[in-house]
Amino acid sequence: MKYCDLHCHTTASDGSDTPAELVKLARDAGLAAIAVTDHDTLEGVKEAIAVGKELGIEVIPGVELSVQFHVGNMHMLGYLIDLDCKELQKVLARVQKARADRNPVILKRLQGLGLPVTMAELEAVAHGGQIGRPHIARLLTEKGYVKSVSQAFELYLKKGAPAYAPKSILTPEQAIGAIHRCGGVAVLAHPFSLGLSRPDDLDGVIADLVHKGLDGIECYYSEHSKEFTDTCLAIAKKYGLIVTGGSDYHGKAKPYIKLGRGKGGLRVPYSCVEAIKGRAGKVLT
Ligand code: AMP
Ligand code: FE
Ligand code: FE
Ligand code: ZN
Repeated sequence: MKYCDLHCHTTASDGSDTPAELVKLARDAGLAAIAVTDHDTLEGVKEAIAVGKELGIEVIPGVELSVQFHVGNMHMLGYLIDLDCKELQKVLARVQKARADRNPVILKRLQGLGLPVTMAELEAVAHGGQIGRPHIARLLTEKGYVKSVSQAFELYLKKGAPAYAPKSILTPEQAIGAIHRCGGVAVLAHPFSLGLSRPDDLDGVIADLVHKGLDGIECYYSEHSKEFTDTCLAIAKKYGLIVTGGSDYHGKAKPYIKLGRGKGGLRVPYSCVEAIKGRAGKVLT
């Protein structure tokens, strides 16, 4: 059996490994393929593809976009995107600006709470990658204001917490449309994060996304129970969607998640890569 991991972050966003380091880890883990899916950027993809060629690891170009949703968090993965496609680059530039506008707001709120953090310190933590709340959480931990990244989210940064600031994000239609127009395949990431406890609610949300052009569901995921995975697989089958999977590897930023294995029980069959390739040939724009 060949295995893959189709959800990985690098230093281009909030992961702790460079794209080159990620590909080496994939080789060491015995994976046949990985997808680089950084938040709102394609910046890490080219380096990963180049190192993948050297090491014999297939690297699928990808991206993870945050999209508007009224309950929990909805993220859309885009796979096999044409890296030179202007349309997605324009969308990413817009989303990146929204991030850049949001970070000073969060810092100001932290300052108001008696936790001073500067933009220069934050940029040093992010090493030039897209800055997200995990970087702020790391900085708060390094400065001794909190005990851990999860405590930083819990006390200050999660939705509804006192230093939280929303970022202006895309609608699901905009995200799916941009992915399709750049030749990519749109997959709903980690459905558990939608925060829908009833399978019927999940089915309804996915049915709506299918109308908007959704291609697949990330059924195999580090935080999904066997039961939840089965629910996702059944919904994918019902709507003719492809099935993908990934660990959401972030390196040291989420030390309890291992590449290709998640919390230990995850295995993503290589057939998921074949499904993405098959679907890419059929995407309608
Ligand atoms: P942002 O992109 O700035 O909105 O931050 C979202 C990212 O923060 C997610 O993709 C996760 O990587 C991370 N994250 C969200 N909630 C938590 C949490 N409770 N603990 C650790 N990391 C989190
Ligand atoms: Fe992340
Ligand atoms: Fe995500
Ligand atoms: Zn992710």
